[in-house]
Amino acid sequence: MKQLRHTIIRAGLGALYFTGAHRLLRPVFAGAGTIFMLHHVRPRRGNAFQPNHHLEITPDFLRATLSHLRSRGIDIINIDEMHQRLVLRDFSRRFACFTFDDGYRDNRDFALPVMREFDAPFTVYVASDFAEGTGRLWWVALEMVVAKADRIEADIGGVAVRLDATTAAAKQAAFDRLHGWLRGLPGEQDVRREVSALCVRHGVDEDVISHDLCLSWNELQPFADDPLVTIGAHTISHCNLAKQSEAIVAHEMTISRARIEAALQRPVLHFAYPYGDRNAAAAREFALARANGFKTAVTTRPGMLFAESAAHLTALPRVSLNGNYQDQRYLPVLTSGAATALWTGFRRTHAA
Ligand SMILES: [Zn+2]
Repeated sequence: MKQLRHTIIRAGLGALYFTGAHRLLRPVFAGAGTIFMLHHVRPRRGNAFQPNHHLEITPDFLRATLSHLRSRGIDIINIDEMHQRLVLRDFSRRFACFTFDDGYRDNRDFALPVMREFDAPFTVYVASDFAEGTGRLWWVALEMVVAKADRIEADIGGVAVRLDATTAAAKQAAFDRLHGWLRGLPGEQDVRREVSALCVRHGVDEDVISHDLCLSWNELQPFADDPLVTIGAHTISHCNLAKQSEAIVAHEMTISRARIEAALQRPVLHFAYPYGDRNAAAAREFALARANGFKTAVTTRPGMLFAESAAHLTALPRVSLNGNYQDQRYLPVLTSGAATALWTGFRRTHAA
């Protein structure tokens, strides 16, 4: 099902490209600017089963994107400058902002060198438990379980199911089923408990994942000193905020910021909501981010920035540079705003 959706989106992007429709849509939907959302940047891996592939792009695709933006005369600015332009309503030049979620080590090893080639600033949103080495990247743990297992037994909605995981296709189907179930569980603790149980049963050591993938505090210090880098907050535990009490949301926001500020000795003024879709960040979270002093906060809702975005600085949409659509021909479509218009039903959406 997921594959089918990807195929349709890819066909849609292709159609926009080949018909040139994105050029017609540009004046209406291109907006003032774009915040790009990235996660991992690293060389392509060979495995057939890569259920989290949408969360990574190659250094070459990043380079192609930057070079496309430069060739169109689009300013690549840091998030403080973006905030400034929105507040001052300075839309004399189109701009793009680059943001990376979670604080992966490959952002330093593969993204930073490419960003330097273009003198392009970027923001990395750090989940403080990930930097601490104690965080739970449960979607990676789940990938490791399914990659390793031939068969997975789980209790889904009170029904014991046995999922085949002998082929790459079967693994993808098993992953989708388990991922959907886990995202639907009522609390963060439920997700952690179930994923931990799967890890124990299948001999996966989930304790080493955040340490293996994420920048530690010691590594973040010199990284944050780079003039191109801004560090933002991404909660303590990378939980779905919409499922937490108001007190916990405020705690996740303020304590993650305090920990980053203490470790890196600089103010943290920008925030990204984990998961960031409608089910993870809505009006209450937008208000709390503002009340807790963040200048901006970004969602994962697709969209470009418009003049109206200045009134919704803690509910900013982004454009995903998605690993499943790494085709240079799509870049003019993405920057035209036609792709996000397609996804949002041709509404110039902002905060709901
Ligand atoms: Zn995240």
